[in-house]
Amino acid sequence: MKKWLALILILTLTSTLLAGCFSDERISNISSTQMKFGTVCSLKIYGYTDDSIFNEVWAMMDDMEKRYSTQLADSEVSKFNQSTSLEPFKVSKDIAEMAAKSLDYSQHTDGLFEITIYPLVKTWDIMAESPKVPTPEAIKEAQTHIDYHQLIVDTTNNTLQKKKPDTQIDLGAVAKGYAADQIKKLLASKGIERAIINLGGNIVVMGSKDSDHPWNVGIQDPFNATGESLGLISATNKSVVTSGTYERYFEVDGKRYHHIINPVTGYPEDNGLIAVSIISDSSAEGDCLSTSMFLLGLDKGMAYIKAHPEYSAIFITNDKKMYLVGKDTESFQLSNTAFTIANK
Ligand code: AMP
Ligand code: MG
Repeated sequence: MKKWLALILILTLTSTLLAGCFSDERISNISSTQMKFGTVCSLKIYGYTDDSIFNEVWAMMDDMEKRYSTQLADSEVSKFNQSTSLEPFKVSKDIAEMAAKSLDYSQHTDGLFEITIYPLVKTWDIMAESPKVPTPEAIKEAQTHIDYHQLIVDTTNNTLQKKKPDTQIDLGAVAKGYAADQIKKLLASKGIERAIINLGGNIVVMGSKDSDHPWNVGIQDPFNATGESLGLISATNKSVVTSGTYERYFEVDGKRYHHIINPVTGYPEDNGLIAVSIISDSSAEGDCLSTSMFLLGLDKGMAYIKAHPEYSAIFITNDKKMYLVGKDTESFQLSNTAFTIANK
């Protein structure tokens, strides 16, 4: 219900923004918003008029969702999860690629990012009508099935293979980023050079606002559910992906239980971070990184980004401190003075 309200709000904002443009600009700018992947997705395309492109993009996302979603019992991922065979299991190329990337990050984070997290995700079932905190026994039981070493991914033959029959995967931490990269490719193949792809806060900007100015991308205020930004970064041809506790959660007795689960404790990660944004070229990479850095925590996460200068990151803590790492954060302009930049 909340998501539909958000959709209406975005539709209203979109039409207001477009109405504010000069008439010649308006003619060549098109936009569309839909619910996909369980979130509000919007596309704005500049200097292009053929709005049949939206049907292609939304159909592509529907096809992806049908194959990746663990919420759908007959998706490819669900069928792999249900299978107990130890033989290679044929999947679509994109699923093999996402699984390979997720397996890489499972290794880079020593299993904090965990591609085989699905038994815990299912136990928490955060998307249920009335989610509940699982019993410690249920959490312990789910943890016994989680170990990324039990999965083999082959991107030449596009197969996934279990070494243990109970291994089950979840691509929720990479799918939106991967999809955003695919949408970018599709738009580029039509000759589109300037666009903003926003898949529930997973943003890709194509090109720049105009020949003199980069796009301004808002970093969401993690304490404000209405999607208000706390500041802006300038970006040209970049992905800006955020993992935050505000995206999916439920509350019991004032405690928030969110969707990023620490496989070692079995509980939603509770390390003092509220959100991590990653600025990178590839959105699939950015999506894996935002979840990974959230799980690594502030100190290890900052060290990781410093060691990988091709990425930039903004870490936000529960006490409203922000830590900026990397060259793409240099343009950051803070607008909400309740936050402070702690490492400047
Ligand atoms: P994101 O919003 O990109 O940070 O991804 C969160 C989603 O990734 C969750 O909704 C789960 O589907 C999945 N997930 C939760 N915990 C983990 C984890 N430890 N490792 C990998 N994926 C996870
Ligand atoms: Mg992610």
